[in-house]
Amino acid sequence: MFGGGTPELYAESYPDKRNIPRMDFLVLFFLYLALVLLGFVMICVGSKTHYLQGLISRGAQIFSYIIPECLQRAVLRVLHYLFHTRNYTFVILHLILQGMVYTEYTWEIFGLCQQLEFSLYYLFLPYLLLIVNLVFFTLSCVTDPGTITKANELLFLQVYEFDEVMFPKNVRCPTCDLRKPARSKHCSVCNRCVHRFDHHCVWVNNCVGAWNTRYFLSYLLTLTASAATMAVVSTVFLVRLVVMSDVYLQTYVDDLGHLQVVDTVFLVQYLFLTFPRIVFLVGFVVVLSFLLGGYLCFSLYLAAINQTTNEWYKGSRAWCQHCPHMARPPAAEPQAYRNIHSHGLWSNLREIFLPATARYERKKK
Ligand SMILES: [Zn+2]
Ligand SMILES: [Zn+2]
Repeated sequence: MFGGGTPELYAESYPDKRNIPRMDFLVLFFLYLALVLLGFVMICVGSKTHYLQGLISRGAQIFSYIIPECLQRAVLRVLHYLFHTRNYTFVILHLILQGMVYTEYTWEIFGLCQQLEFSLYYLFLPYLLLIVNLVFFTLSCVTDPGTITKANELLFLQVYEFDEVMFPKNVRCPTCDLRKPARSKHCSVCNRCVHRFDHHCVWVNNCVGAWNTRYFLSYLLTLTASAATMAVVSTVFLVRLVVMSDVYLQTYVDDLGHLQVVDTVFLVQYLFLTFPRIVFLVGFVVVLSFLLGGYLCFSLYLAAINQTTNEWYKGSRAWCQHCPHMARPPAAEPQAYRNIHSHGLWSNLREIFLPATARYERKKK
């Protein structure tokens, strides 16, 4: 593949750098990364945005002319099962993906990194993060998020003030037939009212609410850290491998018979052909680190200002007065949403990590 490292024959003498096959490869690789990114964004953010919801329903309308009705019904049934009922599909998918990434890390990267004399502390860090992450993942899945029942309804009603905009007083949940405390919401997936409801997370198959937001945040933090650590270890491994092998000092003959200098594009392709699984893993964990990092920053921001995702979502809808679904009777008073629950950073974080009602419930037992 390589045509000897003769420095005299470098690029100047071969200005014609038409490397079409290499571009094809890179275009495909970036397309893969873009698809992974788009897939995640569509699942996580898309389902919450009106514009994208409209786009999806229009797309579905076009598809409805092409796809037979029985297939459409089947797809709708599957989507309903996946996103509107409690099921372990995403929990299992989560564990499979995590298992695949860690298997690849253990079988290939770990051994190769040891040969390149990486520090063992550095190599064991992803395992440590995995253990902590699995603990918080399990806690997020199994902890009661703060289900409102006849027994604790009165206690929850006293926790937060009613703002009369987003959470009016004396409203009953028509399904549970319980009075709705401020900041609570009925989860249609779990069919229960949850105190300080944040959102229903399919990845943990549970609501995120007053009593498990702390576990969910810790889970998110350790998951981001483990993806980022793995991205760093694998990238450093590939870079060190390139530096040690002197590949970047060599030349090669391209498809048109020209001698070419090895550049970054060639190196990526070379690494991909030599270590396909590792390069795919790097692509996956880098995209994942950015997405999780972004979502973590958003969640920490909401925690710092003491707002739930549900309130943020409703607040942004109230703010968007141009949206047709937001049309209010013209006589109504202009109602601006104001966050009345924020009492400073430390107090806000304390509320999440040491929920007062959880302590009270424990004392009662
Ligand atoms: Zn309810
Ligand atoms: Zn739920």
